[in-house]
Amino acid sequence: MTRKILVTSALPYANGSIHLGHLVEYIQTDIWVRFLKMQGHQVHYVCADDTHGTPIMLRAEKEGITPEALIEKVHAEHSQDFADFLVEFDNYYSTNSEENRQLASQIYLALRDNGKIVSKTIEQFYDPAKQMFLPDRFIKGECPKCHAKDQYGDSCEACGATYNPTELINPYSAVSGAAPVRKQTEHFFFKLSDCADFLRDWTRKGSLQNEAANKMHEWLGDAGENKLSDWDISRDAPYFGFEIPDAPGKYFYVWLDAPIGYMASFKNLCTRLGLDFDAYWGQHSEAELYHFIGKDILYFHALFWPAMLQYAGYRTPSQVFAHGFLTVNGEKMSKSRGTFVNARSYLEHVKNPEYLRYYYAAKLNGSMEDIDLNLDDFVARVNSDLVGKYINIASRTAGFIHKRFDGKLLGMSQHPVVNSLRQTAQDIANAYEQRDFSRALREIMRLADVANAFVAEAEPWVVAKQEGDVAARKLHEDCSAALEMFRILTLYLKPALPKLTAQIEQFLNIPAMQWADIANSMPDGHPIQEYQHLITRIDAKQIEAMIEANKQNLAPEAAAPAPAAAQKNPSTEADYLSIDDFSKVDLRIAKIVSAEHVEGAEKLLKLSLDIGEATPRQVFAGIKSAYDPATLVGRLTVMVANLAPRKMKFGMSEGMVLAASDEQGGPFILSPDAGAQPGMRVK
Ligand SMILES: [Zn+2]
Repeated sequence: MTRKILVTSALPYANGSIHLGHLVEYIQTDIWVRFLKMQGHQVHYVCADDTHGTPIMLRAEKEGITPEALIEKVHAEHSQDFADFLVEFDNYYSTNSEENRQLASQIYLALRDNGKIVSKTIEQFYDPAKQMFLPDRFIKGECPKCHAKDQYGDSCEACGATYNPTELINPYSAVSGAAPVRKQTEHFFFKLSDCADFLRDWTRKGSLQNEAANKMHEWLGDAGENKLSDWDISRDAPYFGFEIPDAPGKYFYVWLDAPIGYMASFKNLCTRLGLDFDAYWGQHSEAELYHFIGKDILYFHALFWPAMLQYAGYRTPSQVFAHGFLTVNGEKMSKSRGTFVNARSYLEHVKNPEYLRYYYAAKLNGSMEDIDLNLDDFVARVNSDLVGKYINIASRTAGFIHKRFDGKLLGMSQHPVVNSLRQTAQDIANAYEQRDFSRALREIMRLADVANAFVAEAEPWVVAKQEGDVAARKLHEDCSAALEMFRILTLYLKPALPKLTAQIEQFLNIPAMQWADIANSMPDGHPIQEYQHLITRIDAKQIEAMIEANKQNLAPEAAAPAPAAAQKNPSTEADYLSIDDFSKVDLRIAKIVSAEHVEGAEKLLKLSLDIGEATPRQVFAGIKSAYDPATLVGRLTVMVANLAPRKMKFGMSEGMVLAASDEQGGPFILSPDAGAQPGMRVK
């Protein structure tokens, strides 16, 4: 059955750049939407810039431009960032739109007619120099608790205390510096306190994750309790936003019209595509409606928003999905440590957006837990999973198809190992649907291991050197099977890696894959393109450069330049090695008998190496970032056999494996030509 689904991500505020923290949500939503679209459902994914409020007004003023010019500039920047991270909205709009003005007014009037709007006279801080009421964030002063100077009106950054702006000592306006005065004004309130029974029911009927529903219960209290306050939805001029109907000089608070921006963006899309708006938002809508948000804005999306919709005559969301915050290396993103990284800066240094998409997907499990971007793990996982396991399957087999078989595959619909990769397709689909992307990717990588083990055992590079029809047939079959497995894995990974998938679809010469294509196979005689290099390893140096570039200089002065290092001349006689010295190094051909991960070791693999001795040598090699252990077993390489045994944290290391590397990549271990046998001396 084709489902009709509308999906949103939270609206980014139009006064700053998109950073890696924001991207958790957009990547999460985009993967989910792409998965549902692959399943053949009718899905629309909309978002918009959140453009109203005092901060935008004041920033535009500071830049000497109109708020409209500011938000237009930011809209272009945000749109480009999302496009470059392959976040594919069906509409990316603005809350400062005519559709939004009309919907906000209409919803407000419906709430008023329903008796849910009251006006009250309140007292607020007012900047007499600037002639404007001041939001809490624009009042500063001395913390009433620890007496730190220049703290904000709602909380102290020095001691963490929260308080009312009226409690600040010697308050001043952050806009003009003037001492604020208290002034009375009329504000409009949404009677949230009237909606407690509805919300107690709504938040418990599966609309929220359990942890979110429990949080809401703390705010709502039990039946009979009334813990909710009415919500102040108006602001006085000057304010950048929509004027409230029948109330000149009064504007909707930005948080009133921001979520309505989801509707407005969709309404705009409806006009473009000829869709029926009411079929999605009307009270009797049978469409599904999902909001992805950060846990910090749950209050708005799980209380205000459903209550507004309910009492203005619209449907309420099917579900609200909250996610946790991003930490980097286990800590809050930090400007001084350089871990507060803008989207653009990531693209400049790491370049490939799909690495971040893959890593986030590997961490996201659909809960509200924070997710950690561990930068070493990021490099290791991308290199080992995507390059070492996944792409490796094609790069080791595709060449033979062109060299030997005219670029044509054998059909592999009956191949048992290939078919084993289809058995957990439904589990993978369920994990995607439940937003447990980490579970989906774990299973996909397990299947990649199966495919790699198949290739390692088939040894096409050995079979290719054998003569006769039997060997040729085996080579053709094994490489065709490997590439069919590669196609299946690519289909599974498509929601997370859309661009790479498109390249692979081109390479395999197949149309854009849908989920149902899992059941199909490339037929006998199917021609593929010549294999082109698909992705490169990340070098840890790229990450270091990115972090360095994002470090905001909080130190008073730059360090003095270091004295120039003494020039070292490499060709003095003392630097040459005599042949006698060289022959002291006992290099041997070694067969990798087994290779495995080491619990707790970030860089090491434990290898067991046959060099023709009674028992294999145990060696810990720092090659984990570049190799999947399964792909190493059975390979020949070169080791130093007479290096003094070294006791390491994980056990004794009895030698060293040689490998090449530089800034561009590596490590790459060595392989001898065919004919070399384990134990042969290298000299
Ligand atoms: Zn304080």
